[in-house]
Amino acid sequence: CGIVGILGHHEAAPILVEALKRLEYRGYDSAGIATVSGGKLDRRRAVGKLVNLSDLLVHEPLSGKSGIGHTRWATHGAPTVSNAHPHRAGSVAVVHNGIIENYRSIRAELSKYGLEFQTETDTETVALMTERYLRDGLSPVAAANKTLDQLEGAFALAFLFDGEEDLIVAARKGSPLAIGHGDGEMFVGSDAIALAPMTDRITYLDEGDRAVLSRTSLEIRDASGAVTNRAIKTIQIDA
Ligand code: GLU
Repeated sequence: CGIVGILGHHEAAPILVEALKRLEYRGYDSAGIATVSGGKLDRRRAVGKLVNLSDLLVHEPLSGKSGIGHTRWATHGAPTVSNAHPHRAGSVAVVHNGIIENYRSIRAELSKYGLEFQTETDTETVALMTERYLRDGLSPVAAANKTLDQLEGAFALAFLFDGEEDLIVAARKGSPLAIGHGDGEMFVGSDAIALAPMTDRITYLDEGDRAVLSRTSLEIRDASGAVTNRAIKTIQIDA
């Protein structure tokens, strides 16, 4: 129900949890984060309040300055740890708001390739499909794009990749998403409120937009696939 992503200069885990707290008003039943540290992708997830995730992180810390986070409001699959986001398949982790309407047909298709499902969610199909394209040799951005081309429904998505500490791919289709511009840092979130402690310079993605983020660059393509410029607005929200 809430998404956040960080390519920053500081340890991402506490900042991700803080940003998720600012999205609590949207409601949620579980939460999780993933980071890349020393090239390695890893994640932590917990059912219930964010304090459960914070407690878990005390015992099983997650380092890294790049990461994604999620608060889940279950639509497909019970609110369990294994159904909580981020969903991971091999080298990719995905957080998702909304519903992938055609997840059943994608699932059937992926099963033919011998890919195994570990959760009951619609979201896991996104991670597995992307991983399949990575294994085919596609770059992370190309693999995410090829996956996004096939998704139906209303969603916001953010992708984080093993071995990629300066890359997040994000997409908006029916569920809002905002990019935050920092000083050599880049952020993404379900709304500007989540990003307010980090930055007040916000680019709102339009319907159908896809964004490729690094710490120093942002490339947005519109629904037609054309590179487009979206305004950076300075907003006023109490941090
Ligand atoms: N449909 C996804 C799930 O049930 C995402 C729900 C959400 O927006 O939090 O896991």
